[in-house]
Amino acid sequence: MILDPFRQGVAVTMQDRSKGFTHEIIPARAAGRDGVDAVIGAHVDARQREVRLIELRPFASSSCDGGDRLTSLGGPEDGVPRRLRLLALTRHPALDALPRLQQKSPMAAKLKIFLCAPRGFCAGVVRAIDVVERALALHGAPVYVRHEIVHNKYVVDSLKQKGAIFVEELDEVPDTKAPVIFSAHGVPKAIPDAARARNLLAIDATCPLVTKVHREAEIHRKRGRHVLLIGHAGHPEVIGTMGQLPDGAVQLVETLSDVGALAFAADQPLAFVTQTTLSVDDTQEMVAALQAKFPAIHGPHKEDICYATTNRQEAVKAVASKVEAMLVVGSPNSSNSQRLREVAQSEGCRISRLILRAADIPWDDLAGVTRLGLTAGASAPDVLIDEIIDAFKARHDVEVETVSVADETMFFPLPRELREPS
Ligand code: SF4
Repeated sequence: MILDPFRQGVAVTMQDRSKGFTHEIIPARAAGRDGVDAVIGAHVDARQREVRLIELRPFASSSCDGGDRLTSLGGPEDGVPRRLRLLALTRHPALDALPRLQQKSPMAAKLKIFLCAPRGFCAGVVRAIDVVERALALHGAPVYVRHEIVHNKYVVDSLKQKGAIFVEELDEVPDTKAPVIFSAHGVPKAIPDAARARNLLAIDATCPLVTKVHREAEIHRKRGRHVLLIGHAGHPEVIGTMGQLPDGAVQLVETLSDVGALAFAADQPLAFVTQTTLSVDDTQEMVAALQAKFPAIHGPHKEDICYATTNRQEAVKAVASKVEAMLVVGSPNSSNSQRLREVAQSEGCRISRLILRAADIPWDDLAGVTRLGLTAGASAPDVLIDEIIDAFKARHDVEVETVSVADETMFFPLPRELREPS
């Protein structure tokens, strides 16, 4: 006889492990009952909200596929391992909350995942993370980082574990000899000035493509032009770019109606620069509106959107028409990730979601989806993509196809103060 706690209501116990993330639902004493040869148990990973049915045979090593922890339960001791007997025999409410749909069966639905390429880390993010790691290696912990080095919690948390301390403002940094690193998004000029005044060891991890926009703005200013910045208010990159010039010298334009409201004398020299992580299509519209209204306006050839943002949006466009849903791995405060979600939506994806990692997969919304697009913003590591694909594999018969629109070979060297002596 085989008991299935899902079908037959056998009392089970949920044991909290791994800081509350991983749970095992264990069929406890049922396994030792007369006439019971095996029990269908379950390995539940609450973080990924996945359930794998397993078969536990108490008098032999278990035949579970749910991970080595369950395999290690195998030793018989009065038929049931001691650890299990200590557990209360209760039906955990979480078990009722777990939909049966989450159990992968031999008849698991097919799912084709179209993996966008390029996706994930760009050269500027790789460099920024390398800056923190190299500073830690050279100077030891702690190193201070002003603002999230890149907009990704996973990256920030792993750097914290290595000894980085993240602060929002420079005055949170004590007087120290430890390095203070400025994030990839760039900072207003006043920040390195303040660090110098305090004799702090400042290291700038600003992406060189953001620095390029800073220099453009400065050149326009030197040539007597009023600078318009196309971007999103409050984003650190926008704050940093506006802070390259004196107050009032850069004016932010966010929307077409902002462009419509601009009023300058006919002889006012004008120029525009842009945030690097905008929607290519939306920005081209904005640039066209500016050029139509102010034909003599100066600016870059197209805009300042970086290669990584452009390529990731192109890849999403190439995949969007093939799929019913798109998942973008990235943080809500990551501009380029948000743009990827919007691009998928505007290209006709019925479901387009930004998720941090596998735990956020909107399973209910994806019910019935057979073709899924998957990408990651420039600050999201590929390990999170792997985690998500694994979560789908636990429920579906998954086929993965990569759709590539560009090869990326961009590389930015570390700041001089962190380079190996040659
Ligand atoms: S997204 Fe673009 S601008 Fe931003 S860090 Fe990456 S390469 Fe640099």
